[in-house]
Amino acid sequence: MCKIFVTKPYLPPQDEYTSQVEKIFQACQLTNQGPRLRELEEKIQSFLKVPHFQYVTNGTIALQLALEALDIREGEIITTPFSYVATTSSILWQRCKPIFVDIEPHNFTIDVSKIEAAITSKTRAIMPVHVFGYACDTEQIENIARKHGLKVIYDAAHAFASVYKGRSLCGYGDVSTLSFHATKLYHTVEGGACIVRDEIVNTKLDLIKRFGHNGNTHLCLGINGKQSEFHAAMGLAIWPHLTEIVQARKRISAEYDELLAGAIGRPMEQKDLLYNYAYYPVLFKNEAQLLRVFAALEKEDIYPRRYFYPSLNTLPYLQEKQHCPVSEDICSRIACLPLYPALAITDVRRIAHIILENL
Ligand SMILES: *Cc1c(COP(=O)(O)O)cnc(C)c1O
Repeated sequence: MCKIFVTKPYLPPQDEYTSQVEKIFQACQLTNQGPRLRELEEKIQSFLKVPHFQYVTNGTIALQLALEALDIREGEIITTPFSYVATTSSILWQRCKPIFVDIEPHNFTIDVSKIEAAITSKTRAIMPVHVFGYACDTEQIENIARKHGLKVIYDAAHAFASVYKGRSLCGYGDVSTLSFHATKLYHTVEGGACIVRDEIVNTKLDLIKRFGHNGNTHLCLGINGKQSEFHAAMGLAIWPHLTEIVQARKRISAEYDELLAGAIGRPMEQKDLLYNYAYYPVLFKNEAQLLRVFAALEKEDIYPRRYFYPSLNTLPYLQEKQHCPVSEDICSRIACLPLYPALAITDVRRIAHIILENL
């Protein structure tokens, strides 16, 4: 029997990828904003209906580019402890200090009622995460940011194809960043994007991702955040399958819902959100129960993931200990179940059955 992991990268029919690659061989341009990349940018931008969209190397560089383009190189950034490590590491690479504000227990996003108390004279920005594709309270965050003159950068790595209050969940804040890593709902092997509200910031970000120069004129400190034609080609090959990917995830999630209803903790449904089914997080009663179920699943070669673990405020290389009791509790007992289009419904039933037997 094949091993089942928490996710499995989606691959398009091989000929659909090779026909995109053929166009690269004809055009003879491999990178530096080539025709495949520009076509992909246009497709995604019109799908998301956002003003500015830049496809970049990955979701981590996207966060760093966002901070640099907003001139944030020092001071404090308010962020969430419940995310992938890249949310925090991008802040540290930018030589800023992450200030962790605890999460709310229903959808695991930053607790907006606790943000204002964390603001000091050094605060420059708020960096929340639409974790698992659930929406942060964007309205409250916008109000707080406006009142205190702060920038908002959403790590929207999980939010692709989620629609919140009638528009893309990736379109909020001064900048929203995406990841198109192979494990994400929609991917380009490696890849990411910045969605920028302001035209001037957008131009700056575009310059920074290309080493900060136009020809021989060096305008600012830059980095290499450009993406290649081959990555864009994978994105274009997968693009026509996006709806079927989301639908397949929805079907699997509905099956889990039915089989596990009432037996295990789940995030709250958000009424203003058209969910993208990016993940299937479940909340155990305690860590012992989680470990017991994991052990039983592993015996059957099924490997869910502790997502996210540990809580980022406890990272060993942080200079100072900050406490986030809600996040630390959730991290100790949350996991994501296998969810990807190729997962057979019979396997979903098998997984649910093992979970129910071992709770
Ligand atoms: C995947 C992910 C990232 C990093 O994206 P990469 O493309 O892998 O660099 C950042 N934040 C979150 C929340 C993620 O899940």
